[in-house]
Amino acid sequence: MKALVCELCGGNEFVKENSLFVCQNCGTKYSAEDAKKIMVEVDNSKKLSNLYERARKSIEVDDLEHAAEYYKEILDENPHDWEAYFYSYLGEFTTFTNSQAGSVADKLGNTIPSAYDMALEGCEISEAEKRIKLITTKTIARINGIAGSGASLLRQYEGGFILSAAGKVNSDLYSKLRPVAQNTIISCVLACDPLDNKLVEISKSGKGISEEVIKECLLIIRHAKYDMANLTFSPSAGVKEHMVKSEQIHEYALKIKELDSSFEEEVEVSKPTQRTAEQQRSLGKGFLITGCVLLALGLMGIATESIELMLIGLMPGMIFVLSGLVGLATANSMAKKERQQEHQNSDNENS
Ligand SMILES: [Zn+2]
Repeated sequence: MKALVCELCGGNEFVKENSLFVCQNCGTKYSAEDAKKIMVEVDNSKKLSNLYERARKSIEVDDLEHAAEYYKEILDENPHDWEAYFYSYLGEFTTFTNSQAGSVADKLGNTIPSAYDMALEGCEISEAEKRIKLITTKTIARINGIAGSGASLLRQYEGGFILSAAGKVNSDLYSKLRPVAQNTIISCVLACDPLDNKLVEISKSGKGISEEVIKECLLIIRHAKYDMANLTFSPSAGVKEHMVKSEQIHEYALKIKELDSSFEEEVEVSKPTQRTAEQQRSLGKGFLITGCVLLALGLMGIATESIELMLIGLMPGMIFVLSGLVGLATANSMAKKERQQEHQNSDNENS
């Protein structure tokens, strides 16, 4: 590393004031021209080994943020160091707001694949394979974490809480946060692609990395992608929604199957939330009873010549009674169908 060293005192801390370089130790000022003369090569190996030690300690305790700071300093000195490169970008933006989450994932997808190339340089195959596995698992863990933040953003609205009494505010917030969470998850899903592509490229490049290692890493990536795409939310009771289209999810599953034929896609049996005949019947009864009560009120209205009671009772009462009768008729035909279905099912089991 090159640095300025003061001719008079040997100090190496300088501050630029106007166009002059000022030694912070003895105050001597150097012009730009003079500064060139006192620019000398200094040995910074000790500084570097300190930085490596601190950086690796931070990684050990999973403090990606501080590790990235140390590794960035190392990267300034050794721009081709795969380790410094990888962790500098892996640990970037460990704290982010909900709306930034998607772009953090994008950035990981854009920067990390180069780390694979760098990791292959100047080492034995077995070491290169170790590095590739490490880059894959750590990056996917990070992307998973970001997707999880998108998921937990909506979890607080799960199970129909947005329909609660304080619903207005909550549903406003939900409709604001939903696209944010969706963007986060889709960005995380897509951030897997450049990693996947790079590994496929490496496997074809004849650099000697075993098929097994590539396959192992690709499976980690593809499973993560599939699982993230499968994150669901239930904004209200009985409703489940994916943030990614089901055709897409199916494609992701096929990519896993390419490598692992035993993989079974979780096909959600879409059970239409249908009322049972029993539920339908009690609904019909409810309407009928309400209708009768209203009609009674209406009749009382006629008896007492009260227009209000007649208005409240007669028309609504008729409507409720009619709805109730229709409901009960529907319940009967539903019950019939249910019996047929059961009959069929037992036939199927017997045959
Ligand atoms: Zn000096």
